[in-house]
Amino acid sequence: MYTVHSTIHRFSANLMFDGKRFVNDKTLITDSKGKILDLIPSVDAGEDVRFLEGILCPGFINAHCHLELSHLKDKIPMHTGLIDFLMTVMQSRNENDPEEIIAFSQKANREMADNGIMAVGDISNNTGSIPVKKNSDLYYHTFVEATGFLDFNARERFAYMKRIHQDFMNNGLTASLVPHAPYSVSHSLFQLINDVSQKDIISIHNQECEEENTMYETGKSNFKRLYDNLGMDISGFRHTGKSSLKSWFPYFNMQHPIILVHNTFTDESDIAFVNESGHSAFWCLCPNANAYIENRMPPVEWLLKRGAKIVLGTDSLASNHQLSILEEIKTLLKHFPDIPLEKMLSWATLNGAQALQCEDKYGSFEKGRTPGIIHIFPSGKNAGGEIKLSETAKVERLK
Ligand SMILES: [Zn+2]
Repeated sequence: MYTVHSTIHRFSANLMFDGKRFVNDKTLITDSKGKILDLIPSVDAGEDVRFLEGILCPGFINAHCHLELSHLKDKIPMHTGLIDFLMTVMQSRNENDPEEIIAFSQKANREMADNGIMAVGDISNNTGSIPVKKNSDLYYHTFVEATGFLDFNARERFAYMKRIHQDFMNNGLTASLVPHAPYSVSHSLFQLINDVSQKDIISIHNQECEEENTMYETGKSNFKRLYDNLGMDISGFRHTGKSSLKSWFPYFNMQHPIILVHNTFTDESDIAFVNESGHSAFWCLCPNANAYIENRMPPVEWLLKRGAKIVLGTDSLASNHQLSILEEIKTLLKHFPDIPLEKMLSWATLNGAQALQCEDKYGSFEKGRTPGIIHIFPSGKNAGGEIKLSETAKVERLK
């Protein structure tokens, strides 16, 4: 029994989600800073319990974002497909001056905090987001993203990204060096990234459009438009006759933990291929960005069938109307109404924290953690006893 004490807070709700599952009739006990002291049966909780209508849940984890593209909100047309999307982003991303870009990133950082997000896996191509991340209450793991599809200057590209990576580390931020995508990273650059460290988390945009598979399978694809646009001669590219995933995945031969992002055109055999590799793999779904760019949903049923670990991401404001994990969940529920909310909340919390290797602090209501406590409302059970989320549900941060 916890006695009444000013530094102790007690929270209860009609639905309590602990990071893995809904638990019944429990009261959450925290200190004044939100550290979890206990999750105990409500009958033992004593006085002064704050009861909330709706769901209490650990803070959300956004496993994939690009803060530095926040100034592109509402600037990139929808449903163009990935190749045109990329060309427009490349054209527009430097139109604002650096101070404006920082101001937009700061606003995006606040938006995520307001939407109950506590930790973010954020892609960076430059050092522009350092001031925002350094002063943020959110935890950021930065994925410093290497690009370079031509083999001859792989070492140069790699050295450049390493300097950016070092800048993040020098500022006390967690970061790892990662490849951008199978259509933008050369054979040598993949090898250099693989060699860096087997403990670093790898994140990669995977199978975000059909053309990516076609390019690896046949050697010919619409990506030629992108390379021509960039003045690149890619005649040195050798196709493998396999899907994109089966072509790039074997570069990582040191058991790095890997976050595969998007997977919109991943098939069941690709998922099996990753399972057989023995890697700790997380499949990051960004359904609102997929709807924005390709107007298509990722293969959630196949991932579930194959026991894949799923996490959620918002992608950037260049391809999303907001940075909200709750909105990603609502979109998934709309397209996959048979998947229980409980599963999706675990993707949004503990799985995400495990993917970003910050589960010692975030993603669950385990004792000693400070995951952030969020309240999702309105939500409740329907007549059949199923837990449902209202389409207009909102989230607020309590601690
Ligand atoms: Zn992305």
